[in-house]
Amino acid sequence: MASHQYRSTIPIAVNGKRINQRLKKLAEFGINDHGGIDRSFGSAADIAARNWLKEWWQKVFQSEVKVDPVANLWIEVTGKEKLPPIVLGSHHDAVANGGKYDGSIGVLLAAEVMQTLEEAHFPMRHPMRIVSFSAEEPNPYNISTLGSRSITGVLTKKDLEMVTHDATKVKLTDTIRSLGGDVDHLAGNLLHPRDLSAFLECHIEQGRNLFDCGRSVAVVKGITGIYREKIKVIGEANHSGTTLMKDRHDALLAGSELNLALEEIILNTNQRDVVGTVGRFDVLPNAANIIPGEVDLIAEVRTTDEETLQQIIDELSSRIRVIEKGRRVRILRETILNQKSVPMDQQVQLTLKKVLTSMNEPFLEIPSMAGHDAVHMAPIAKTGMLFVPSIDGKSHCPEEETNLEDIIKAGNVLLQTVIALDKELD
Ligand SMILES: [Zn+2]
Repeated sequence: MASHQYRSTIPIAVNGKRINQRLKKLAEFGINDHGGIDRSFGSAADIAARNWLKEWWQKVFQSEVKVDPVANLWIEVTGKEKLPPIVLGSHHDAVANGGKYDGSIGVLLAAEVMQTLEEAHFPMRHPMRIVSFSAEEPNPYNISTLGSRSITGVLTKKDLEMVTHDATKVKLTDTIRSLGGDVDHLAGNLLHPRDLSAFLECHIEQGRNLFDCGRSVAVVKGITGIYREKIKVIGEANHSGTTLMKDRHDALLAGSELNLALEEIILNTNQRDVVGTVGRFDVLPNAANIIPGEVDLIAEVRTTDEETLQQIIDELSSRIRVIEKGRRVRILRETILNQKSVPMDQQVQLTLKKVLTSMNEPFLEIPSMAGHDAVHMAPIAKTGMLFVPSIDGKSHCPEEETNLEDIIKAGNVLLQTVIALDKELD
């Protein structure tokens, strides 16, 4: 048994070569002619990736992969004490023509950390579990963060039963079943607060904060809130030749003013991590010789600060009143999303920072301006995220890339953080 004892004198570290090989292998599932990855939920590439993960996880960890009712993949190794597990993970699906790193590095580093601890016979008090969530990304079922939202009770069986594939009309519940899940068992298998000790997700930043300052890692302070309004501008469609300029009620000009006003309001906050976008803009009737009678748009604001959001909404309201009057149009607004920002757990952030300091690794502390599965795990477990750089800030495209050295560093930070949390947490 002596050879199976953990020897604390040997520095424990993740295996970079192994991480690289697995990243390359996972990137084969769904690779297209542009070098992008097509691996949306339920696709042949998703199935192939799942089978590959299941196969080597079971071999390496000598344990059974559990496919939960929404087809999230889990595997656990036991700890010395009867405690809720420490969980690491992310997602293995990808957006259409997406990159090789989004989600994938979180899943592969989770397994690498667990394997490293197992190989070292590290005496963990907590059981350790890894997860790859289903359908984190937008997909043909128009439902993202499906796995994390369902298993934490945010989406119910009823919500899922109504959903079908955009093109094939296949029911989402049938696809889940084909992947080994069964939504009939969802209600009885939900994760509840404190079922897990901690959840850690490593992810690419998908922005350029880290890349621009040349650092390898960032501790995520919180995940942005997302606010969206559906806005309808009602003017008057009329002949573009015979209607004098003074007689017009041009909905497009009013909508354009609104878009510019939103940009100005956001810039006036003078806050770096506040962004606003009109990403959808439909003009009716959209004809060359007709003054636009109606415009439908969606305006989005992202910030981690509730007070700032309220100020932006108030300012937008007063600007809209001015536009209505000046352009002689009516503007109708409806809030379609008001997802609150989610702070990351203080203790997990502190532990990550202590580990980074002890490794002499300079780091950033930034919010995540994109949504993640961690949003939905935060009410269940002490949740934290670690970011690695996206080269040139590029993500959700074939050019998405992260240096292997940074990924290895992040792996070692995760490893040491798990070891520290295992000591600290109950
Ligand atoms: Zn992701």
